[in-house]
Amino acid sequence: MKCEAWFQCIKGCAGRYPLNQIIYRCPDCNSLLEVTHDMDQLKQRSAQEWKDLFKERYRKNEWPYGSSVWAKKELVCPSVDNENIVSTYEGGTNLFWAERLGHQLNLNDLWIKQCGMAHTGSFKDLGMTVLVSMVKQMRSEGKNIRAVACASTGDTSAALAAYCAVADIPAIVFLPRNKVSLTQLIQPITHGVLTLSLDTDFDGCMKAVQALCAENEIYLANSMNSLRIEGQKTISFELIQQFDGEVPDVVIIPGGNLGNVSAIGKGFKMMQDLGIIDRLPRLVCAQAERANPLYLSYKNGFEEFHPVQAKTTLASAIQIGDPVSVNKAIRTLKEFDGIVEQATENELANAVGRANRTGLLCCPHTGVALAVMEKLAARGVIKPKDRTIVISTANGLKFTDFLLRYHAGDLADVNSEFPFQPLELPADHDLIRKTIHEKLSEQIPS
Ligand SMILES: *Cc1c(COP(=O)(O)O)cnc(C)c1O
Ligand SMILES: [Zn+2]
Repeated sequence: MKCEAWFQCIKGCAGRYPLNQIIYRCPDCNSLLEVTHDMDQLKQRSAQEWKDLFKERYRKNEWPYGSSVWAKKELVCPSVDNENIVSTYEGGTNLFWAERLGHQLNLNDLWIKQCGMAHTGSFKDLGMTVLVSMVKQMRSEGKNIRAVACASTGDTSAALAAYCAVADIPAIVFLPRNKVSLTQLIQPITHGVLTLSLDTDFDGCMKAVQALCAENEIYLANSMNSLRIEGQKTISFELIQQFDGEVPDVVIIPGGNLGNVSAIGKGFKMMQDLGIIDRLPRLVCAQAERANPLYLSYKNGFEEFHPVQAKTTLASAIQIGDPVSVNKAIRTLKEFDGIVEQATENELANAVGRANRTGLLCCPHTGVALAVMEKLAARGVIKPKDRTIVISTANGLKFTDFLLRYHAGDLADVNSEFPFQPLELPADHDLIRKTIHEKLSEQIPS
């Protein structure tokens, strides 16, 4: 089957540009581009045929379709050759039924989409596989791309580094100094990627990398490059697959640069267009109060948008004051009866504490989404019977320093509701037995 896709301006300017052209913005109006698919071609397959095809490929071994991104290749990036695909077997991440947490919050149908169960520990792999594959394709066609570069709050750089290392393509990452976790810093280093730690914040790194990539020999890997959005939109495809075609009621997404909320919306719209689903869920974008420009804009009905100076937050991957994909995100939220809500440091940290007590292992950004969910449930916006999905964006193991300090009650502006410390004892059997009995009788059953 022949499928065509191209870059086109999100404001609807007429120009179309091939996906293997190095272009990030509309030459006519400077807006971001998006990948547009020839839907008439795609509609030649029925909804049932698409569903059967995805089911047949799901987590199998035929290259590259076992990856849950490339299983949807026709709907994602049809023009890349299979031998140029750079994949680490993306997606197929667990949908965790949060029964015990949901019970505590009076939500009876609560699920956590564990996007952090990925090769580099965050959902960024989903988009990076598409982008780096296209780079490999362009290099094989003889285009002069010397390196791929990105600015990052930690997870984009980890993903770019790993995929470029797999494909033997040089990469450069720009990180804000002291604003990413130790694990995130070590990821590009261990892959041997040029790592620049700059004395600025993410927004400053973003400006620096855009200036570098204005020379076309260095290809930009940030999500303003809409190839990434195509991969990330498979989160929605996968959710529908995992629920056997049923559409959830509410999907909550932590938002920083606002690419992911746009991507998830795009996935649902595309499935609706193809007849795979018959309605859309409500989307909620969750922001940290300390980096909340979209929340402020939502409060004035999206009339205006003003970038802010992002303040230091535990949710470091969304510490962004001037989000690149803001226009895409606002358009998406308007189409999905969207909500934007925010969470304080205290709220996000305790939401993680509560969730982890029920067997999850959440990162601070997932904490922002969980805290926002708690607020919307308390306000009656999310009803007890609503099927609610929280997008968990990164693996909690990337943020052990945060967890250590949370349980030690050692985080600024956080009053830890679930403190916990290891007991340090001599190896004395009687004392051990006595202490354990005391501790067990102190515990209140929940
Ligand atoms: C990138 C990232 C986000 C934010 O996604 P955007 O597309 O920038 O809004 C949230 N959480 C984690 C862990 C991330 O790495
Ligand atoms: Zn335009």
